[in-house]
Amino acid sequence: MLFSSAVMNVVSAQASNQIDNVRVWPSAEKTRVVFDLSSEAQYSYFTIFDTQPHRIVIDFRQTTNQVTLQNVDVKSDVLRVIRTSNPPQSGTTRIVLEISGAIQPEVFPLGPSEFAGHRLVVDIPGANSSRTIEPTSAAEAPARIPRTLDEMPLRPLIIAIDAGHGGRDPGSVGPNGTHEKNVTLAVARKLAARINADPGMRAVLTRTGDQTLSLAQRTSIARRERADFFVSLHADAFTSPQPRGASVWILSHRRSETELGRALENKERLSEELIDVEHLLQGEEEDPFLNRAILDMYRDSSMAGGFEAATILLRELGGVTTLHRSRPEAASFGVLSSLRTPSVLVELGFISNPQKERLLINGNHQDRLADALYRGVREYFLRNPVEGTVLAATDIRTHVVSRGESLSVIAQRYGVTVDAIRRQNNLTGNTIRIGQRLEIPVAR
Ligand SMILES: [Zn+2]
Repeated sequence: MLFSSAVMNVVSAQASNQIDNVRVWPSAEKTRVVFDLSSEAQYSYFTIFDTQPHRIVIDFRQTTNQVTLQNVDVKSDVLRVIRTSNPPQSGTTRIVLEISGAIQPEVFPLGPSEFAGHRLVVDIPGANSSRTIEPTSAAEAPARIPRTLDEMPLRPLIIAIDAGHGGRDPGSVGPNGTHEKNVTLAVARKLAARINADPGMRAVLTRTGDQTLSLAQRTSIARRERADFFVSLHADAFTSPQPRGASVWILSHRRSETELGRALENKERLSEELIDVEHLLQGEEEDPFLNRAILDMYRDSSMAGGFEAATILLRELGGVTTLHRSRPEAASFGVLSSLRTPSVLVELGFISNPQKERLLINGNHQDRLADALYRGVREYFLRNPVEGTVLAATDIRTHVVSRGESLSVIAQRYGVTVDAIRRQNNLTGNTIRIGQRLEIPVAR
């Protein structure tokens, strides 16, 4: 028997562990097997290539198995069977993967992420031809989304959405009695739904109902959630009924100076602003110069980001509604005061204009506004990738549709979901035509 490789990871604790689930994902290049564990993997493995069938043998120490392996859907050209075998010592679970050839696997543990707990991953290289011809229905697609996330232990972007006003503060009131707070909440919810349907993003709403919130509470929620982006939604009145367009606002430089000074003087605010570097500063003597330097850096980068995002959002909004101003405007808005998060305030339209008021309560118009905002935020982060996020690891490829290809066939070929292609190309149905160019978001 040839022990061609052995890897041990050193874990001193003798805690008992459990295999809670086993998942198999064949793709065009490899078959991935994931063991979901209740705590950190304590394992070793070796391969047996000198007798048939070729095998990968994994010993999970101090581990019990809760999975009926016969029920695991293997569906791989490379992986034939998953079974248990007699363990070398009591307390160990020995799992055997029978494979189609002498293929050296990659075996590595993954710690808990937003989407999964402790895992041991076994990647077995080798093409799975059946994956490219197997038909898939659109209904299957959502179930495959976690696979994409799991293949990339990356985090989603956190998008904070602030529905302006609320509770005792109705905001502006339109000529027909529409309250601004209801318009902003409706669009905020629609935008959140789009963002949460995107595996690369997660929405955080400052309010989900008719609550009264202070400006400080709104920005504090975004900072504590480590938001990558903050968008505040409004539909204010103008003194005359004529103005009717949308506009996008960013914090003025002067106000950002004031906010920087305030942050340095307020311990709680400072710790929220410095949430990403706090562990670096712990144990250090208070160093106001260092704090100031870091805040300065954050402020410069978030303001540049806010300006670019505002420009993109204006272009997207311009496609679905009239614009009041075609360039971002700067103002002293307290709600945009976070120094670490690019922040914008979107005026969806002026509720004081009777025609705009009717549009702002129209569900289809709200959908179009939410679509435009979603596309804009996504484009901003594709242009300005944030390290360690799903979207930063997403590459956009171009695919020209040829005869006989359906959306599901194309999705299979690139290992993405039909939904992901629809989102990227603003498609609502399944109709595509020969020669059409599609953008395909694939993992890098
Ligand atoms: Zn408002």
